[in-house]
Amino acid sequence: MSDGHQVHTHLVGVEDAGVPHEVDAVVVGAGFAGVYALHRLRTLGLTVQVLEAGSDIGGTWYHNRYPGARCDIESLDYSYSFDDDLQQEWHWTERYAAQPELLRYIRHVADRYDLWRDIRLDSRVDAATFDEASSRWTVRTEHGEVFSARFCILATGVLSVAQVPDIAGLESFQGQWFHTGDWPHEGVDASGKRVGVIGTGSSATQLVPVVAEQAGHLTVFQRTANFVMPAQNHPMIEQVEREWKAEYPERRAKARVSGFGHNQLSNPKRAMEVSPEERRREFELRWQLGGLYMMRAFSDILVDPVANEECAEFVRGKIREIVADPEVAELLSPRGFHFGTKRLCSGTDYYETFNRENVTLVDVRTAPIERITPTGLRTTAAEYDLDVLIFATGFDAMTGSMLKIDIRGLDGRTLREKWAHGPRSYLGVAPAGFPNLFIVAGPGSPSVFSNMVNSIEQHVEWIAALIEHAALRGARRVEATEEAEQAWIDHVNEAAGRTLYVRSPNSWYFGANTPGKPRVFMPYVGGVGTYRHLADDVAAKDYEGFLIS
Ligand code: NAP
Repeated sequence: MSDGHQVHTHLVGVEDAGVPHEVDAVVVGAGFAGVYALHRLRTLGLTVQVLEAGSDIGGTWYHNRYPGARCDIESLDYSYSFDDDLQQEWHWTERYAAQPELLRYIRHVADRYDLWRDIRLDSRVDAATFDEASSRWTVRTEHGEVFSARFCILATGVLSVAQVPDIAGLESFQGQWFHTGDWPHEGVDASGKRVGVIGTGSSATQLVPVVAEQAGHLTVFQRTANFVMPAQNHPMIEQVEREWKAEYPERRAKARVSGFGHNQLSNPKRAMEVSPEERRREFELRWQLGGLYMMRAFSDILVDPVANEECAEFVRGKIREIVADPEVAELLSPRGFHFGTKRLCSGTDYYETFNRENVTLVDVRTAPIERITPTGLRTTAAEYDLDVLIFATGFDAMTGSMLKIDIRGLDGRTLREKWAHGPRSYLGVAPAGFPNLFIVAGPGSPSVFSNMVNSIEQHVEWIAALIEHAALRGARRVEATEEAEQAWIDHVNEAAGRTLYVRSPNSWYFGANTPGKPRVFMPYVGGVGTYRHLADDVAAKDYEGFLIS
C-alpha cells in the first residue's frame, strides 16, 4: 500500500472502544462489491463505513496473489460499468488481467471516487446484532470497535475463507507451507526446491505451470482431474480495445441480460442436432477462443448428458494429444462428473507442464494422502520429500465468510441457526428474520455463475434503490417475508433441477468440499438476465415480498 493510502485510512476515526460510531450503513468487505456499495450509497447521501479484514482493499484480488493468479473473464468485461469515463480511461494490458493489475485497478477506483476515507482496513467484523427497538445494527470488529448502522451490507465474498484440509502431521512439517488463497506478500522462493501442490482446481491449474518453471522438482497431488481450457491469454490488442470501448454501451447492455453476465458468444444450437463435423468444428473454435467459451459451445451442454459427454470427450482427446505419456494423459482426463459441473478451469500450458522432466503427477484418489511428515508427505503408496507444500485446496465457499461472523437478527436468532441446513434468503439478497441486512452476490443469486463484477453492480444498484425507496417512505425497517423467501428457494432449486449440476453433487457449489457442511446447491443457475428481470419485477411491484415499515 502506498503511504498516501495509509494516511487516508488512518484518518478514519472511531470513537473510543465500546462507544458506537453512528452511520447510515456499514458495509462489510472492501472487494469489488464493498467498494462499489460505498460509492453507490454515498451518492444517495448516506454516511457509510466500510470495514475490511485485510490490510488493503481488493478482497479476492488482495489475498489470492499466488504465481499465475489471473481472472478468467476478459478484462474488458470484468470491470465496472457504472461510469463511462472510468471504463474509457482505464487501459487493460492483457486479455485476462493478472492479479497485480486487478489490484491496481480497484485501488485506482478508490482514489478516483475518494473512497479511502470511509474504508477502515485491518478491521475484521466478528459480530453484528439487530436491535428491534431502534431498528439498527450494532456491528463490532475483533478489536472492539463498535458501529451503529441502519443498514448492514455483507460484501464478504463467496470464495474468501481459505480451507486447509485436516491432514494429520501438518504441524510436524519442517519445510514451508502455504495456501493459495492466503499467499504471503513477500512471495515464495521455490527456485531449485522440491515443491508439492495439493489440489487441481482453478488455483492449482494457474499456479502449477509457473511454479514448475522455478522448482527443482514439482509433485502435483491430484484427487480429481478437472477440465482445464487453454486461457489463450495475450497482451491487449489495441484494435480490440478500441472497438470494444466504442461499443461499450451495447456490450454492457448485452452482458446485463445474458446468461452469464458477459459478452462471450453463445451458440443457440443443440449439440446433437448438428453433424459430428459441425460439432467438432464448434468445440475446436471454442478451444481456440479459450477460457470459459466452451461452456456455451451448444445450448444444451449443461442440460443434455449426451451433449455434455461429447464435449467432455473432445477435451479428453486434446489432453491425449498434448500429454506425451499416455498413462499421465489418462490420469489427467476427468471422469465421473459432467463437464462444467465442477467449475471449469482456465490455464496456460497446464497439460503441457506434465511433459516436463521435473514434474510428477500423483494420483491421491487411489492412494490417498495418509499424513504429512517432518520431511514431506506420505500417501498409502509412497513417501515424497518436500521443501515447500502448497495447498490449492479451495475455500469454505459461498457461506463461509458470513457464517464466521456472529450475526443475530430478530429474537436473537443467529444466521448460523437459520442456515443450519443451507443458505436461505429472498432473491439471494435478504434473509427473512434479518431486517435491514443485505447480501451482495451471495448464495441464491447468480454470483459464481456469472461475471462477478456484473452481478455485483446489479445487486448493489438494486439494494441501493430499495434503501432509497424505504427512505422516501420514511420507513426504518425493510425485511423479506418467510413466504417470499420460500418461493425464491423453490425457484432456485427448480432452476438447478433442470441442469446436470444436480447430477454431479461433488463440488463446492454444493458445499461438498467442506466437512460437515449441508449438501445444498447454493448459487442461482437461472441466468443473469432472468435474475435481473425477476428482481426488477419485484421492485416494480413496490418490492413485493418485503415488509417496509
Ligand atoms: P477448488 O476448486 O475447490 O479446488 C480444490 C482442489 O483441492 C480440488 O482439486 C480438490 O480435490 C483438492 N483437495 C481438497 N482437499 C483435498 C485433500 N484433502 N486431498 C487431496 N486433494 C484435495 O479450489 P480453487 O482451485 O482454489 O478454486 C476455487 C474457486 O475459486 C474456483 O472454482 C473459481 O470459482 C475461483 N477461482 C477463479 C480463478 C479465476 O478466475 N481464474 C482462479 C482461482 C480460483 P477434489 O476435487 O477431489 O475435492
